[in-house]
Amino acid sequence: MSDPSRPIILWFREDLRLADNPALHAAALTKQPLLCIFVFDDESPGLRAPGGAARWWLHGALAALKAGLRKLGGDLHIFRGAAAPVIGRLVGESGANAVYWNRRYDEAGRAIDADIKSALKARGIAAESFNGALLHEPWHVAGKTGKPFQVFTPYWRAACAKGEPAAPLTVPRTLTFHPLPKSAASVALAALQLEPHKPDWAGGLREAWAPGEAGAVEALDLFLKKGLPGYAANRDRPDMASTSRLSPFLHVGNISPRQIWHAAQTAAMTGASKASAADRDKFFSELGWREFSYHLLFYHPDLATKNVQSRFDALPWRHDRKALRAWQRGLTGYPIVDAGMRELWATGWMHNRVRMIAASFLVKHLLIDWRAGERWFWDTLVDADAASNAASWQWVAGSGADAAPYFRIFNPLLQSETFDPDGIYIRRWIPELAKLPAPLIHKPWAATQDLIAAGVRLGETYPHPIVEHDAARQRALAAFDRLI
Ligand code: FAD
Repeated sequence: MSDPSRPIILWFREDLRLADNPALHAAALTKQPLLCIFVFDDESPGLRAPGGAARWWLHGALAALKAGLRKLGGDLHIFRGAAAPVIGRLVGESGANAVYWNRRYDEAGRAIDADIKSALKARGIAAESFNGALLHEPWHVAGKTGKPFQVFTPYWRAACAKGEPAAPLTVPRTLTFHPLPKSAASVALAALQLEPHKPDWAGGLREAWAPGEAGAVEALDLFLKKGLPGYAANRDRPDMASTSRLSPFLHVGNISPRQIWHAAQTAAMTGASKASAADRDKFFSELGWREFSYHLLFYHPDLATKNVQSRFDALPWRHDRKALRAWQRGLTGYPIVDAGMRELWATGWMHNRVRMIAASFLVKHLLIDWRAGERWFWDTLVDADAASNAASWQWVAGSGADAAPYFRIFNPLLQSETFDPDGIYIRRWIPELAKLPAPLIHKPWAATQDLIAAGVRLGETYPHPIVEHDAARQRALAAFDRLI
């Protein structure tokens, strides 16, 4: 029941935006004053702590949302600790009669939310949750038998058959806010210490990104003008600015997939973007992979730690710390792999095609457990996401629901020549190879005189390949064959 004398607690989580925010929208409709909060929960059991790069992003996104709410006369109050007691206390202190939030989909998060909901209801406090992160709830897309999907194409067909996603919601025009009760133990954003210091390794991230809602809108506008036209043909090219780079914004909800969907739809239909229907549909299907990843996470909650196909449990992974370290640092001797790993380290992001090449190299060429790669990406990606990261790693390893067949082993050299034909991407991230001409920059081990001319000394300025492709391929095939 709406009671204008009592506040509603609006609990922001992975929905750090004002536009198309269903929980905010519903709360505004009640005309009750809002008490906007964020809880940095590093105490509830089971929650996976964000990695370093994601923590950096979170800081920027929280600062931006705080500033946005202050402009409207409100604020974002930040708390630290287990969410259930924090919220339970705040309800008592503020006299709130309702708590609203947008849903999350990891198992531990869902369990915490369910407990909070029942505890609130037992006290006669309303608890309302909404879908602010996905085009479709994971349980709303089902096959004819009602079973969850294991394969992307039928999943996406069923999702598309549900029709256009609802139009995005605008920022509510009138919002009123409730002051934070004096007794409430909120903390300053800086107290969360989300940004690195000593050493401050985030310089490259700051140069590359502007976390927050405004940054997301800017990235989307740029993409609609420059990236969407030709997206279907160019999206696999790391040497071109051909993709949206919206993933970290989507991860914390600086923008919603519905906003992106409708903006791309309008741009393609009105001719505002020179994109074709094929470009638009390809882009939509990538948003679809994100949805599918959440579908998989919902039905396989331990996606980040457990093979979906249990026969992969028997795989004889190698424990090779030196090789893992070389991969992490971009020193494998395979330029396309190393360029990707260095892009990741410098900017917190890597192009999708290169993610596939680098991940495949770790799992197949080095025969190192995909979970070691998943953890490294978790710590270094600004878009590190419980659903997309785990689902993608399992796809590459072959252990996932809809996975690449285990015997399809990416040849890093062919991939490099195909998707970075002039070596522009490699040159950007491996300056020590920059003077090598295009065919050889993909395979410095095959160069002789050109190496001297380019100032490259293999084994000194750039490593020899840490494994030989054919031998590594045979080793992987032998290991994977045993599972069949
Ligand atoms: P665009 O091409 O512009 O696509 C638009 C949006 O669609 C993306 O922002 C993303 O939300 C979604 N999307 C695109 N491709 C995929 C995909 N293959 N799977 C799921 N969603 C997709 N993506 C993450 O968001 N977080 C991760 O932690 C993550 N880890 C990955 C790990 C590996 C090993 C691989 C191979 C892929 C991973 N991806 C992850 C998927 C994909 O690489 C990124 O979403 C994409 O590169 C983001 O760039 P973009 O925003 O420019 O994509």
